[in-house]
Amino acid sequence: MHALNGKAQPQMIFVALGDTEAIGANCYFVKLDGTGLVLDVGVDPNEEGPESLPRFELIHRNPDWYIDHAIITHAHHDHIGALPVLLREFPHVLVHMTRVTRQLADLLLPASARLQRRRLQEGRSNYGPLFDEKQLEGYSYLYLTHEPGQDFNVTGLRGRSPVRARFYYAGHVLGAAGVLLTHEEDGRRQRVFYTSDTNLRAQAIIPGGDYPEEPVDVLILESTAGADPEAERTTRRLEEERFGEAVRRVLDRGGSVLVPAFALGRAQEVLAVIDRLKREKTLPADVPVYTAGTMRAVADLYDRTRFLTPRLDPSFEVFRVEQRRLPRRLEAVKQALAEAAIYVLSSGMMFERSLSNRMAQLLVEDERHAIFLVGFAREDSPAGQLLAAAEAGAEAIVLDKQRGPQPLRCEVARFRFSGHSHRRDLLRLVERLQPRHVILVHGDEDAREWMADNIRFFYPEVTVWLPRSGEPLEL
Ligand SMILES: [Zn+2]
Repeated sequence: MHALNGKAQPQMIFVALGDTEAIGANCYFVKLDGTGLVLDVGVDPNEEGPESLPRFELIHRNPDWYIDHAIITHAHHDHIGALPVLLREFPHVLVHMTRVTRQLADLLLPASARLQRRRLQEGRSNYGPLFDEKQLEGYSYLYLTHEPGQDFNVTGLRGRSPVRARFYYAGHVLGAAGVLLTHEEDGRRQRVFYTSDTNLRAQAIIPGGDYPEEPVDVLILESTAGADPEAERTTRRLEEERFGEAVRRVLDRGGSVLVPAFALGRAQEVLAVIDRLKREKTLPADVPVYTAGTMRAVADLYDRTRFLTPRLDPSFEVFRVEQRRLPRRLEAVKQALAEAAIYVLSSGMMFERSLSNRMAQLLVEDERHAIFLVGFAREDSPAGQLLAAAEAGAEAIVLDKQRGPQPLRCEVARFRFSGHSHRRDLLRLVERLQPRHVILVHGDEDAREWMADNIRFFYPEVTVWLPRSGEPLEL
């Protein structure tokens, strides 16, 4: 604690600027000894326009709160999608990310601008785009890049002591990193580690994450899989085999399989799994695999950086996996469906108007076909609702509100190829980093509760916090 003007100053202020009750926009304001930082600047994927933004007005309203630096951990929209808006509202902010995340941002943010414009033109949204491609070109020059393991300075203008930052590869997707913040407080070193989305274990392309060697004081911990007991009971290898057998059954009966996948990460990992299953002859080598859109550009970046960022096998190339481009015209897609095939399309949560949603509408009424979910799906997303409907044995499903209910006859199943750590691994991370405080973020209510209960039980010396959106936490 600082004694300044006779008043004790908290060492760290933490405020979640996004929704904390569900998985929404990741954006955390952190004030460390006079320096103002934001960790990630995401949008809520289930909202649109201003509704999807973090609550920047809380910063504008409080004269003691300000932002000197923004640190972006990876290029998923719920972590980076509102960055252009932050830069418009706080033009002096310096932005830090890894080099690959910057390359991904230059691809994915313009794609997001185009999608927002199209939604408005099609009358699907009442909101204008939050930013346009021209603005993005100017902002891109402001992004400072740092390699993991390198210290960089994030001390603010009014910072009373130097604050240093360092990225650690997080395993989650290409370029993803956690960040360690270090500063001196009354001669004592304080360490804060933000895991962001993290995976301790290897996936098909990317190895597990790296973490600080020494203990930290505060751990800001994701809790996505906190309410998923199944994830810890299976292994990736077993899931891959189960997936291979399930896909094969569908192909054998003349059906096609849709795998909705996030354009960054899940899509490339699924292609790597399909490649292995074909080589091991679980799947026929000649079954066509269709991909489309941004995931192909992202795959190219995976390949171009394969000797520069961590890989299980640097010789593996996503584009070595034979792929066809999904035809643009609906008639041509319907023709393609005459042949059994695998479709890997975004978005992972099957949001309305996405390719995966439109493909699902074509497959859902035919019992030969299958939709196999491979990542996290929010309960209120079309993918989450499809899964719940299938499990409940429902006869109809609404994939698109304008179209209305359709008979649910295709096979629906879920496989765990998550890019997130399962909950026991997250507890292991607490054990390894020995924090005094854990702040739980990025998980729905059940997930965060499970994590909180278990940390309190196994590590009673740790203080656990479940901050609500906008409520400052003083440590
Ligand atoms: Zn992510």
